[in-house]
Amino acid sequence: MVAAPVAFARSAPSPPRADPRRVEARILALARFGANPEGGVSRVAFSAADVAGREYVASLMRAAGLGVRIDAAGNIVGRREGREPRLPVILFGSHIDSVPGGGNYDGDVGVIGAIECIELLNAASLRTRHPLEVVVFSDEEGSLVGSRAMAGEPLTGALDEVSHTGRSAREGIRAIGGDPDRLSSARRAPTELRAFLELHIEQGGILEEKGLDIGVVEGIVGINWWDVVVEGVANHAGTTPMDRRHDALVAAAQLVLGVNRVVTSVPGRQVGTVGRIAAAPGAPNVIPGRVEMSLELRDLSAEKIQSLFASIAGEARAIEASTGTRISFRAINATAVPALTDERIRRSIAVAADALGLEHMSMPSGAGHDAQDMARLTPTGMIFVPSAGGISHSPKEFTSPDQMARGVDVLLRTILAIDAGTLE
Ligand SMILES: [Zn+2]
Repeated sequence: MVAAPVAFARSAPSPPRADPRRVEARILALARFGANPEGGVSRVAFSAADVAGREYVASLMRAAGLGVRIDAAGNIVGRREGREPRLPVILFGSHIDSVPGGGNYDGDVGVIGAIECIELLNAASLRTRHPLEVVVFSDEEGSLVGSRAMAGEPLTGALDEVSHTGRSAREGIRAIGGDPDRLSSARRAPTELRAFLELHIEQGGILEEKGLDIGVVEGIVGINWWDVVVEGVANHAGTTPMDRRHDALVAAAQLVLGVNRVVTSVPGRQVGTVGRIAAAPGAPNVIPGRVEMSLELRDLSAEKIQSLFASIAGEARAIEASTGTRISFRAINATAVPALTDERIRRSIAVAADALGLEHMSMPSGAGHDAQDMARLTPTGMIFVPSAGGISHSPKEFTSPDQMARGVDVLLRTILAIDAGTLE
């Protein structure tokens, strides 16, 4: 039970610190659900392992005194009332579904860490002004169904997509206690929420490499994809002289190098990748007549992505002229736009890290997260903790108990700063 309310203020004693062993024990307990032989988990959304893992997490939430409900999108939401019931909710959490052959930390750290914050508030008999809600978003690794539904984004196509379980999202949402026919009821109005916070592993190697504890996420990058087709002329590889060829693969090779050159030619942390390429007809003795390849660009600025793309298209025109080929780009609809975190929350995260004597840096998130949808709905902040070796989406994922606990400490202090009025 919670004792008399204690307001958090600068003069108040500093909040209790996370227990690294409890956090680690719960991470390992959660890792039993969908455990794979390599030591990670295959707990894809809507699978039996996902259902069982969600039940375990919901039981932790109930034991911590949260009022637990499942919304129509299958998100688990656990509520702790505040002293001022009319204030909007401070929401925080992450996801527990994984990719096939995934690890034990992606998403899980943010969920177990969120519950740890509640445990610490309970232990300190600390009642916030705002209601607090812990959220476990559904289907993060699939189509971000849970956070998109909460943000009110249309999900029509995504519901019929078949996930790794062989179930459509529509069937899957039912299997985890949601109701795909009433998805709109999962939507939250901006006025209902004060902020959203997500603690997550970095999934890259920068924090570890620099010996830092905390990443203050500036935003989640936009991801733009194009299908690229290079058309040349297929011809006999023995009888066509080198100066008479329109070799689509030679042109494509130049374009791959051009993408790399353009993306690295300007300052910033933008990335560009050609990750798929296929030459046709694909025989050793035929000059390739057609190449299909992908192009992906990511950055925090949509304008920068467009200007990089314009430069790449310029390179393509020059390559066409010199190789006698035709190069066309088709933008794929699944374009994720960049989502920036809230500057005031970024400052609160940095202040919290400083107060704890933790080293931190600002950085973009190159991977997608539920926070990208939430950022369009409410002021959003994201806290990264180091990933050993920068490895993620692999059973080799690892973040130490102390590293996780430091992230929880920063999360709790950020929640309390927002509760004290940072955003009001
Ligand atoms: Zn994740």
